[in-house]
Amino acid sequence: MTNTASTAGVSTAHALPSYLQADHLGPWGIYLQQVDRVIPYLGSLARWAETLKRPKRALIVDVPIALDNGTIAHFEGYRVQHNISRGPGKGGVRFHQNVTLSEVMALAAWMSIKNAAVNVPYGGAKGGIRVDPRTLSIGELERMTRRYTSEIGLIIGPSKDIPAPDVNTNEQIMAWMMDTYSMNEGATSTGVVTGKPVDLGGSLGRREATGRGVYTVGAQAARHIGMDISKARLAVQGFGNVGSVAARLFAAGGARVVAVQDHGGTIYRGDGLDTVALSAHVARHGSVAGFEGAGALESDRFWDTECDILIPAALEQQITAANASRIRARMIIEGANGPTTPEADDILQERNILVLPDVIANAGGVTVSYFEWVQDFSSFFWTEDEINARLVRIMTEAFDVVWNTAQQHGVSLRTATFIVGCQRILHARELRGLYP
Ligand code: NAD
Repeated sequence: MTNTASTAGVSTAHALPSYLQADHLGPWGIYLQQVDRVIPYLGSLARWAETLKRPKRALIVDVPIALDNGTIAHFEGYRVQHNISRGPGKGGVRFHQNVTLSEVMALAAWMSIKNAAVNVPYGGAKGGIRVDPRTLSIGELERMTRRYTSEIGLIIGPSKDIPAPDVNTNEQIMAWMMDTYSMNEGATSTGVVTGKPVDLGGSLGRREATGRGVYTVGAQAARHIGMDISKARLAVQGFGNVGSVAARLFAAGGARVVAVQDHGGTIYRGDGLDTVALSAHVARHGSVAGFEGAGALESDRFWDTECDILIPAALEQQITAANASRIRARMIIEGANGPTTPEADDILQERNILVLPDVIANAGGVTVSYFEWVQDFSSFFWTEDEINARLVRIMTEAFDVVWNTAQQHGVSLRTATFIVGCQRILHARELRGLYP
């Protein structure tokens, strides 16, 4: 059935699968709008564009576990492979109470674009469980992770689809996933996930890779627009893996991190927060709230922070039509996936605020995940300096291509990244041909 309903003000004329509702498209609706903006630039490859508008495969699983109190709980789990034309699926696993199929589909699709934009030989995938992991004991968390891994074991594997950490998942979760898959296979299979502990085939530099990539493209873009990083003021939303590493690297480059917001609170210090001490505070207390030497801000005031660079590094749909006109930054670097709605994108573009989109800005993580996977296959491990140097080279070259594409077509960096990514995906699609 062709659906011509309007989502968030933009007309969509897509053949929607029956498991989606036009008026509840969520993040998938945003992704569809982003793809539509790119089709005019795809030339003859546009013939294949419909392949981008539906996931190749979406698996929904029931994850039952015994809770510590003896009762049985059921959780909803997903693994979506959006496109695998360029290689096996690759993308994180998220544990969050608001995970939906639409969100996982969008995150998988953004991984397809991102992997193609940095030219690593992967398709795009993503997974998640609809759960607030903070409500589980460590034993319950392990049992849930193992059962989920076993359920999605049908479609993952080192040459099929390789999960990695995302929101609320970490090295320990990856270790349990690797062990569960290996037990089911009867052979140690380190390459089935990335973001593992270094002692289990993980890569040096993986933990910091996404934040390092954010910093790398941010510094490169700053040079393009004549911004001096050492004098820049930063506001960062999310102080987890991505936000905290990016903040520390910018601070090490001389920038002042003036405001930080996380799920527990918002803090402000005009002459710059001590980001290393803040990381230690978060490790102890679980949130930036209550950090000594900073004032508390009411959460909505975060968007009024006077700064040069804003880094959303928490969840999607944070920068919306409601707050985009209040943002005082010159540049936004999307550490998070999907933090800006298309309406907000238009407002930011009108206001001449440069947006470095997620699909290139946060690709550092998957780039070092690719290094980890290569190292696992050859059982030969590189030094951290080698890894960081290769990461910076790949990110810098990829960003140059995106920057030049944006200049050539007079489009935003987001549309430029989609042009580069979609062309590579559809070119691979065309070369492979349609089976059978
Ligand atoms: P994380 O779990 O380590 O940190 C998430 C942070 O967001 C925490 O500080 C949390 O307090 C904060 N947060 C949660 N809800 C919030 C809210 N309502 N308001 C403000 N802050 C809130 O996760 P992460 O790995 O740092 O991922 C953050 C984002 O970056 C996600 O969008 C993720 O998809 C994206 N990303 C992560 C990686 C990676 O390698 N970890 C790679 C690419 C993209």
